[in-house]
Amino acid sequence: MTDRDVLISGASVAGPALAYWLHRYGFRPTVVERAPALRDGGYAVDFRGEAHLTVLRRMGVLPAVERARTGMGATWYVNSAGKPQAKLPADLFAGDIEILRGDLARILHDATRQGTEYVFGDSITSLTEDADGVRVTFERAAPRRFGLVIGADGLHSNTRRLVFGPEERHVKHLGVHCAIFTTANHLGLDHAGHAYRTAGRLVALYSARGNTEARAAFYFASPLLDLDRRDVAGQQSVLAEHFAGNGWESDRLLREMRHAPDFFFDSVGQVRMETWTRGRVALVGDAAYSPSSLSGMGTGLALVGAYVLAGELAAARGDHRVAFARYEEEMREYAAGCVKMGDGVAGFMVPGSRFMAAFLNRYYKILPYLPGKNLMANMARRTAENVTLRDYGDLVVR
Ligand SMILES: Cc1cc2nc3c(=O)[nH]c(=O)nc-3n(C[C@H](O)[C@H](O)[C@H](O)COP(=O)(O)OP(=O)(O)OC[C@H]3O[C@@H](n4cnc5c(N)ncnc54)[C@H](O)[C@@H]3O)c2cc1C
Repeated sequence: MTDRDVLISGASVAGPALAYWLHRYGFRPTVVERAPALRDGGYAVDFRGEAHLTVLRRMGVLPAVERARTGMGATWYVNSAGKPQAKLPADLFAGDIEILRGDLARILHDATRQGTEYVFGDSITSLTEDADGVRVTFERAAPRRFGLVIGADGLHSNTRRLVFGPEERHVKHLGVHCAIFTTANHLGLDHAGHAYRTAGRLVALYSARGNTEARAAFYFASPLLDLDRRDVAGQQSVLAEHFAGNGWESDRLLREMRHAPDFFFDSVGQVRMETWTRGRVALVGDAAYSPSSLSGMGTGLALVGAYVLAGELAAARGDHRVAFARYEEEMREYAAGCVKMGDGVAGFMVPGSRFMAAFLNRYYKILPYLPGKNLMANMARRTAENVTLRDYGDLVVR
């Protein structure tokens, strides 16, 4: 066992991307994922700007990602009768390439299964560090030793909790909860979305999978709710309470929710930490610097973070002290910019007051005729591109 044996917690975006690069640099990555298997589909995530595309290109997965893109077009804000009122251009929500998170995870998994040990249906229970490694215990598997442990386990990171303390120290609640599930495309949307906003609430329906189905998304303003993550029926009841009689398609979608094949519910939060590394443990992706699910930044940021962390480990020949310091240095300003970008989005998407909701509905109507109509999309692109990617190509083991 050396520093080259690396345990990664989480097999979504940051975890497999990190495993990909570590393997190419001669490390031996193991990925432990709590879910019993890869989950397909899910909600859409996006890449925007040259930095994201460059990493995908260097990983050789850009063609597969492009083939799986959703091809999503514009989103329309509608009134209570479903009549389109204002059009938001595709690149605001869908970036340069939009893809379902599960499809992306599968592409990254396929690109890494050769050189990576994947363990599904398990989770780390303790980490004990000594001079030359970390002893790791698991819920199911026998204890093992690794040189380094990397938490890529998302907003509610288990690794972060074990090493850096409770979640409330690091996660800032943005005052919104969201739910997403798969449903029929009963409005016949063609690569498009419809969204209906009222004070403190937003309901949306987006076509998915070549219009053969749709995703219903509900957002509502609320203080942090203390809900059991496994209690789907309880979460659905909360949603029903918030949206019953809300207008447009709300009631119909709430009925369909009860039979949905999947159901995602979570608070919307950002991760803010002074440091992402401690001893032989580091965090990457949402676990370290989630800019929030509303920001449209998290996936690309996770990908870039994994690229930089692996590259710096290779450049430091596995000396984690040097590599972790360089990783923090390279990523700090970039991640902070993405988090800042995500900070204001909640208030725009789900304004708390009736006045603000009505104002924004009107504002979006006239937006296409204003000089600053592309302001938000351009700001997001600039933020996503605000990183200089080192080329670690000569460190690849051939
Ligand atoms: C509803 C929604 C919409 C979003 N829309 C966008 C968007 O439009 N654009 C965008 O860029 N981003 C979007 N995001 C954010 C994006 O999904 C994340 O930023 C991105 O997936 C981060 O990747 P990650 O690998 O760091 O974390 P995650 O994708 O959160 O993955 C964490 C992984 O760790 C696993 N895990 C959790 N706990 C454990 C444990 N104890 N042990 C082992 N494994 C564990 C999880 O099962 C999961 O597989 C959205 C997120 C949500 C929730």
